[in-house]
Amino acid sequence: MIMISGTEKRFEKNTPRMPLLFLGHGSPMNAIEENEFVQGFRNIEKEIPRPEAVLCISAHWETKGTFVTGMEKPKTIHDFGGFPKALYDVEYPAPGSPALAEKTKGIISKNEIGLDTKWGLDHGAWSVIKHLYPKADIPVIQMSLDYYRKPQYHYELAGELKQLRDKGVLIIGSGNMVHNLGMVDWNRMNDDDYSYDWAKDASEKMKASILNNDHQSLIDYSKLGRAFQLAVPTPEHFIPLLYILALKDKSEDIKIFNDKAVAGSLTMTSIKIA
Ligand code: ZN
Repeated sequence: MIMISGTEKRFEKNTPRMPLLFLGHGSPMNAIEENEFVQGFRNIEKEIPRPEAVLCISAHWETKGTFVTGMEKPKTIHDFGGFPKALYDVEYPAPGSPALAEKTKGIISKNEIGLDTKWGLDHGAWSVIKHLYPKADIPVIQMSLDYYRKPQYHYELAGELKQLRDKGVLIIGSGNMVHNLGMVDWNRMNDDDYSYDWAKDASEKMKASILNNDHQSLIDYSKLGRAFQLAVPTPEHFIPLLYILALKDKSEDIKIFNDKAVAGSLTMTSIKIA
């Protein structure tokens, strides 16, 4: 049983509509490196109102069923291997928000949403959110990806989160639009905007569909041929994009930033919708 303290925000009052972000997180090293991508995250923060809380859909939390983190103090999860100690030393002590977790669970009718008390913040969340809110003074909850569900299901479930945008909640999808770790060219990690042809092809088509509000072709990405099969070999880094698109009103503007490839088979392409 999770108790909601009397002072915590209940997310009932209306606020100006919050923007939406999809952030390409790339290597966990972006958490501690200084580069153009983290500068891009910091710049985008300057363009958006300060939220009451963040709801993050990260590529790195897959479950059977959908869960939201319901703890008061989510731990920083170092869910990667083989990186320098400095990265394991990073703590991102943002508070949780049991009230927002309860609210999120309450507004979704598509399925029963579970309240999680064991997860925390994985690197898909903290490695990017720390650049937006370095003081860790904004509550953050995560919502998991149901591993057993198809893209259409995720898109429809995401759409039910819409009212949170009017309650001061910044919804962030964290993944990578093009993400094929098996084909990363490690020798060219530092080459500027280095992209395989298929990665470029898929990336351009993704951006065109995003800008045209053609969400259905992205939901049905598995039918888009070889470039997409290589760009999205597994769904988890791509699906967070669908969560963000599902929450967009047709008339809203899209800003694309950090639009570069890394090591041939990854893109950092990120979007702001407002
Ligand atoms: Zn990742």
